[in-house]
Amino acid sequence: MGLLVVGSLGLDDVSTPFHKIENALGGAATYISMAASYFTAPIYLVGVVGEDFPKEYIDLLEEKNIDLEGLQVIAGGKTFRWAGKYHYDLNVRDTLLTELGVFENFDPVVPGKYQQASFICLGNIDPVLQMKVLNQMIAPKCVVCDTMNYWIEGQKDELLKLLKRVNILIINDSETRLLADEPNLIKAAKHILDLGPEILIIKKGEHGALLISKDTIFSAPAYPLESIYDPTGAGDTFAGGFIGYLHKTQDLSIDNIKRAVIYGSTMASFCVEHFSTKGLEDIGNLRVNDRYREFLNLSKCDEL
Ligand code: AMP
Repeated sequence: MGLLVVGSLGLDDVSTPFHKIENALGGAATYISMAASYFTAPIYLVGVVGEDFPKEYIDLLEEKNIDLEGLQVIAGGKTFRWAGKYHYDLNVRDTLLTELGVFENFDPVVPGKYQQASFICLGNIDPVLQMKVLNQMIAPKCVVCDTMNYWIEGQKDELLKLLKRVNILIINDSETRLLADEPNLIKAAKHILDLGPEILIIKKGEHGALLISKDTIFSAPAYPLESIYDPTGAGDTFAGGFIGYLHKTQDLSIDNIKRAVIYGSTMASFCVEHFSTKGLEDIGNLRVNDRYREFLNLSKCDEL
């Protein structure tokens, strides 16, 4: 049974102090699916684009074994657009534009053959839409959800309803504080664990990621890259590598979830080395596993 992914597919305009790109392939579901495709197949994609979505981007997704039966293409509609500008410190980003386009009236329909999927990744979109997808699934076993400040601020009640049905929530550190309304990260995480998820994964950009459950705290480093080209999609790519590995192994033990965090971080490190999805287009499994091992060595030292 495939891995179900829902989220945005979009066209991004991104600028950093060093370069600028327009109309690049973007969107949460795009990054999640492409990263997950290195671990498992098929990926069942649920999303929507307008007629303006370039054919070459559709071809790229299909090449990665991503099943597009659940992708609606709306005649005359405009694809989701996002524009962001990174500061000299690439951890800081301003959103310049969010145009929902076809997502505004999106009514997600999960094709019959996708409905049995038990591993589900609810990528970053309106929590109302994430819930609509979840409601069509027959027996979810592992529901991973990503969200962002845009939805925490604009759709908090809907997000709180959704969280009751989520097993693993992936958000960044500032969103953790915002969602919990608590400045201390650990206290904020504990508060969120009371809202539904059994596990919270907090992404901290170039400082790695934290896995927090009621009785575990696990810290994963970030890969020390000398050249970061475009951080866009790193969080979604993390989610894709994470759930792709869990789906491949079908093992939800805490030790395996820790491994999935390292695979998520591994994929995110490839993503930021190039612009848009370029860093995820042609990696090769050997490089993925080599970098996974380098990650392990980053924080390994002798026991006392
Ligand atoms: P990340 O850098 O992981 O936060 O992901 C950036 C991607 O998320 C971009 O490719 C955007 O197209 C997409 N994105 C940005 N804002 C939103 C939003 N409000 N809803 C859905 N997707 C979004």
